[in-house]
Formats: sequence, C-alpha cells, structure tokens
Amino acid sequence: MSEMISRRSVMMSAPVVMTTMVGTVLLVAALAMSAWSGAGWGSVVWLVCSVVQLAIRTPHLVRNRSNLIAVRRADRLERCLFVLVSLTGLVLPLIYVSTGLFAAADYALPGWATAAGAALQIPSLWLFWRSHADLGRNWSPGLEVREGHTLASRGVYARVRHPMYAAIGLSLLSQALLIPNGIAGALALPAFAALLAVRIPREEAMMRETLGDAYVTYAACTRRLVPRVWG
Ligand code: SAH
Repeated sequence: MSEMISRRSVMMSAPVVMTTMVGTVLLVAALAMSAWSGAGWGSVVWLVCSVVQLAIRTPHLVRNRSNLIAVRRADRLERCLFVLVSLTGLVLPLIYVSTGLFAAADYALPGWATAAGAALQIPSLWLFWRSHADLGRNWSPGLEVREGHTLASRGVYARVRHPMYAAIGLSLLSQALLIPNGIAGALALPAFAALLAVRIPREEAMMRETLGDAYVTYAACTRRLVPRVWG
C-alpha cells in the first residue's frame, strides 16, 4: 500500500515539477523578450495566464495518458481546426509578444478594455481548473472515450455540458483584449468558433453512442456553453 502511494506521488509530482520548470523558463524568456520588443502589460498578463493554464492541464494530460482508449473519433477537418486554434491561441501570440512581428495588424484599445481582458482571466482560469477536476480521468484533448469512461454530471458539468470549452472561449476573448493585434490577438476567436461548430455535435453524438440514455437524460437537463443559453 505504502509502495503504491509513494509510486503514485512520484508519478504525480514529476509532471508538476516538469510543468513548473518549463513554464518558468518560458515565462522568463518571453518576459525578457517582451520588454525588449516593447509589448504592453496586457501581453505580460496573457503570458502569465498561459503558464497557469499549462500548469493546470499538464498533470491531467500525463495522468490520463495511461488510461486505455476505447473509442477515438477525429477526422482531418477536426485535426486541422485544432492545429489552427493552437497556432492562433499560442504560437502566434508568443511570436508577437517576444518579437513584435505582425505590428502592422495592431488595433487601438482603451485602457479599460485591457483591464477587462485581465479581469476575464479570473473566471476563465477558475472554470478551466474546475472542469479538469470535475471531468477527472474522463478528460482527453481529442475526441476519445476511455476504458471505464463515466458520465461527468456534477460540479460545473451540472450547469453546462462544455464548461472547458466555455473557459477556453473566455480566455480567447481575453486574449483579443490583452493583445491588441488582428493576427496574434483576435484571430483565435473565429478559429475556436469554427472548431466548436465541428467538434461539439461530434462529441455529443459520440457521448450518446457510448453512454446511451444516461447522456441523453443529462443533455436534456443542461445547456451547451452558457447556463440558460443555447441548448
Ligand atoms: N466538452 C467538454 C469536455 C472537453 S474534453 C467540456 O468542454 O467541458 C473532451 C472529452 O471529454 C471527450 O473526448 C469526451 O470523451 C469527454 N466528455 C465530454 N463530456 C463529458 C461528460 N459529460 N462526461 C464524461 N466525459 C465527457
């Protein structure tokens, strides 16, 4: 028993240490580069919040890798849109914040809009953390059902069926306010909307097929992304 516990704590601590180290290196490098490129304080907030997102997700990613996959549903369109969201939501903003590239696509925003972008990160990060915790071992980055998959219908999943996507949507809205640039800030929002338009119906169909009536009943009592809206 004690051996099991110590092995588990080693498994759990390794990703946390790795995430913290990679995140810290990334943050320090990007902060130094952003000072050099003259990026505003909104970019610094975006960088810090991106590292926090990474720290929330990585332990779940590493832990859930060992859970066997029973069903996998992903096609080329869904994968392309996923890559597009990763590009516009992480890679392009990192390049912009570090180098100032794409400055021709800058747009002007009042100071309160940047402050609103920073404030939006609070509910976004909370929801991102809670949805990972409530989905637990059922979480996967792609459209997959694990061996022994169970329905998550408690916590934030009692209110909406896609709280994690709602959290990411809030974060990308915040990105457009924190990084006032058409390419590195705002482009991620339409890319994510396109991904959701493809992914949500497929994910829900997969859940109905694998979890059956339990998911149908659950879906009848919840909305998709926002409580009481669109369902
Ligand atoms: N769409 C959800 C989950 C995103 S993670 C959200 O936004 O919060 C994607 C994986 O979660 C899917 O592959 C699916 O297997 C799983 N999933 C989605 N909803 C679920 C639920 N209510 N219960 C259990 N697993 C779920």
